[in-house]
Amino acid sequence: MVLSAEKSFWMTLGCSVDQPDREAIQLPCGKIEYTESFKYLGVELTSDLRDTTDVDAKLARGRGTFKSLSKVFCSTALPVKLRVKLFQSLIVPTVLHGCEGWTLSRSVCDKLNVFQSRCLWTILGVRWQDHVSNESVRSQCEVPMSLAQLVRLRRLGWTGHVLRHNDLIVHDALFSRADYRGRGRHRTLVADLAADVSLVCNFANEDSTLPLNRVQFNSASSSFIRQAGDLGCFKCPSCAKPYISASWYQKHLSKCPQPTRAIKG
Ligand SMILES: [Zn+2]
Repeated sequence: MVLSAEKSFWMTLGCSVDQPDREAIQLPCGKIEYTESFKYLGVELTSDLRDTTDVDAKLARGRGTFKSLSKVFCSTALPVKLRVKLFQSLIVPTVLHGCEGWTLSRSVCDKLNVFQSRCLWTILGVRWQDHVSNESVRSQCEVPMSLAQLVRLRRLGWTGHVLRHNDLIVHDALFSRADYRGRGRHRTLVADLAADVSLVCNFANEDSTLPLNRVQFNSASSSFIRQAGDLGCFKCPSCAKPYISASWYQKHLSKCPQPTRAIKG
């Protein structure tokens, strides 16, 4: 294998490197410089293992594409339905590329939904002064889900896929190594995925084998997300308290009178 020093960088994941230690590494092919973020397969990886950089980059790209096509999206010569279809097929995939691995926080959900609403307002020719609710804008455009809901649904679809294929490396990394204590984002993500799957199983009155049936699991996930709010926020099945992060839900489980069944790998 030939390593290109120009295209290669070194970085650490989950821990920071002090300024004096950020020197370039000397290899036979040349100097390998230090970096704090690196784009790999379209995903922005950062050394702090946070998703915000990637989410912001995707939103910026989405905004750019929307702006460059603003003549199309604002054109009254085209029916609203067609412009919404173009938005759904050109802009949404740009923003949600690689979203299956995002850890969702309130701020990420809000950012995604604000972006979607602004775009739909533009398409409908609605201004913020008109005080039209996001939900009514979405229903006028016949867009069934907010972006936050869509991310959660895609994440569930992907998790189901991983759970069905226990030969995948990612299955091993996420669910099989019970003793594995990942750091930061990895740990949060695994907890989030497991909690989401467990809630869907509970919602459908099924046990933890539900994800093994693709059709049933996907349809249960879809109905589950539809009844979740704009933030794609799930509710505790017993007391209906909303939650975004699984860590909150995990703590809540011990206090709840009827805890949901836990997912097994
Ligand atoms: Zn509860």
